[in-house]
Amino acid sequence: LYHVLSGKTLSESMRNELAEKIKAIKLQHPDFNPKLKILQIGSRPDSSTYVKAKLNASTKSGVSCDVEKLAEDINETELLSKIEKLNDDDSIHGILIQLPLPKHLNETLITNAVSAKKDVDGFHRYNVGELSKRGGSPHFIPCTPNGVMRLLKETNVPLKGKTAVVIGRSDIVGTPVSSLLKKANCTVTMVHRYSENVPELIKQADIVVAACGVPQFVKGEWLKKDAIVIDVGINHIPAPEKKSGKKLVGDVDFESCKDKASFITPVPGGVGPMTVSMLTANVFQAALKAYNDETKLPEIHPIKIDTSF
Ligand code: NAD
Repeated sequence: LYHVLSGKTLSESMRNELAEKIKAIKLQHPDFNPKLKILQIGSRPDSSTYVKAKLNASTKSGVSCDVEKLAEDINETELLSKIEKLNDDDSIHGILIQLPLPKHLNETLITNAVSAKKDVDGFHRYNVGELSKRGGSPHFIPCTPNGVMRLLKETNVPLKGKTAVVIGRSDIVGTPVSSLLKKANCTVTMVHRYSENVPELIKQADIVVAACGVPQFVKGEWLKKDAIVIDVGINHIPAPEKKSGKKLVGDVDFESCKDKASFITPVPGGVGPMTVSMLTANVFQAALKAYNDETKLPEIHPIKIDTSF
């Protein structure tokens, strides 16, 4: 019998917990005001949806969030000087540049321009490098990969020694998920679009993390019995039976996989909501760190970036 790992329920309880924590701190320290700044360049509808979700989740947790929309054709110099100002603004603890950027902007250059200490997405090269080092200490763990690890923790299955297959090797999902699973002492295989024998590799996995952007890619017959299946995919596919004409599916064929799996995440309601909760948690950590550094008070709350899954 499989268990559905609900990111929706877990992220809601995390959000409530964080709201309580912030409220309690503010009672003693009214000037503690965690704040996130989001820059959205252009107006891609999918980006607008994600930005709205981030804004909502932040506000509900007691993290203030300011979204600034910038023109699609903003030039690189202008954007870089904007980021520099935000880096120097002490009232802002987290800066998020909504990706993807328009083609004329260099994503690597822009993500590295955000101060590593305000890089709540975890995309700055310092944080990426520290995350990939054994015993490294990043300021932040990227939100979606951290959400994946939090869902795995929810299973209570010890990860040490388990075989994990990560499908996808992007900088945003596949690669950092692999780094985290490696830190958790799993044996990690990363597969990508050029990999051969993908079903055979998946058959050996105790843990499958699907992040390839191919709708319903992972089939039940590929799974080892009782595998844990985490579906990161977000894909819209045609669905004539729906009013909107489309529906949301993951990178896992839920129907054929559910009876083989011990735990499986749904789409929607799995990894997606976890991503935004992890983001607000990162902003909270950044604000705490800044507050402690500024006030030189004994730590108002223990700060712990948990990389010891
Ligand atoms: P990406 O397009 O940057 O990377 C996809 C990766 O999958 C690549 O490494 C590619 O080599 C690999 N791949 C493609 N086809 C493959 C195949 N047939 N077999 C094996 N590997 C294959 O995508 P991404 O940004 O990493 O996102 C992956 C998925 O996760 C997408 O569906 C995206 O929408 C979703 N996503 C969800 C969240 C969330 O919060 N839930 C966040 C980010 C991305």
